[in-house]
Amino acid sequence: MGLIVTILGSGCTYGTPKPGCGCRTCREAAKKGVQRTRFGLLVQGKKGTLLVDAGPDLRQQMLDNHFSMRDFDAVYLTHAHYDHFSGVGEFRGLKKAGKLQVYGGSHCIRLAKEQFGHLRREFVDFKTVKPYEPLRAAGFEITPVRLNHNYPCTGLAIREGEKKVCVASDTRLPLPARTMAEFEGADLLVVDGFAETSGDVRKFSFDVWGKIEDKATFDAHFSVKGLHHLFFRQAEALARGLRAKKAVSVHTIHSAPPHCELAKRHETKKFLVGFDGRKIRV
Ligand SMILES: [Zn+2]
Ligand SMILES: [Zn+2]
Repeated sequence: MGLIVTILGSGCTYGTPKPGCGCRTCREAAKKGVQRTRFGLLVQGKKGTLLVDAGPDLRQQMLDNHFSMRDFDAVYLTHAHYDHFSGVGEFRGLKKAGKLQVYGGSHCIRLAKEQFGHLRREFVDFKTVKPYEPLRAAGFEITPVRLNHNYPCTGLAIREGEKKVCVASDTRLPLPARTMAEFEGADLLVVDGFAETSGDVRKFSFDVWGKIEDKATFDAHFSVKGLHHLFFRQAEALARGLRAKKAVSVHTIHSAPPHCELAKRHETKKFLVGFDGRKIRV
């Protein structure tokens, strides 16, 4: 038996449906009662279970997928953006045999200690890891790698025996050469699949930026050149370039088309369109 990877949350920073949003995807999601919650990933191996990121939906994700804090052997935080980090507060209140080991880069762990310092006495050990220095946690060998997110953000290469799961939830292209080398030939690449078209991103950014009239502002922030995430076609190209045996998209915005349309256009044997609760055997 190999690894089991569960997509706990496949959504963007707002989640889908976004409260108050009347876009087609949010309306359909509300009607069907399906959600894209904020990003989270569970990797279960022979010797342990690793949680990647603790977003604001962690509590609901635990309830939906029938696990609790006691089931995690270690946690890796990719970065300190709200949608990946704010659920660390959930680590309070359930005693394990020892403290829960929570790993991350120096920027992320500094902020975690600031914000969640009250957990350190009883519940959590925060541990800083340097990029490209492998560590052992939850029975895996984990190599943190640099991504390209315009914010200190870590990707992961998670190994158990011959198997390798790579995580690049928040990034744009290009990836550093050293990261590409770590990711090469992944059995599963969990990859940023933010939007299908620039039109999706335009809708997504409307509430924050208003109607962007001039092309220069739009291009600077939201085109392939400016966006700090990946369009589906880029995610697919990255997976092909890395010769990943399988890839699965995550971090999809509410203004992208509904899941069934994305799946129709992008799902193949090798490229899966992620959804909450999706389990992939590696
Ligand atoms: Zn919406
Ligand atoms: Zn994110």
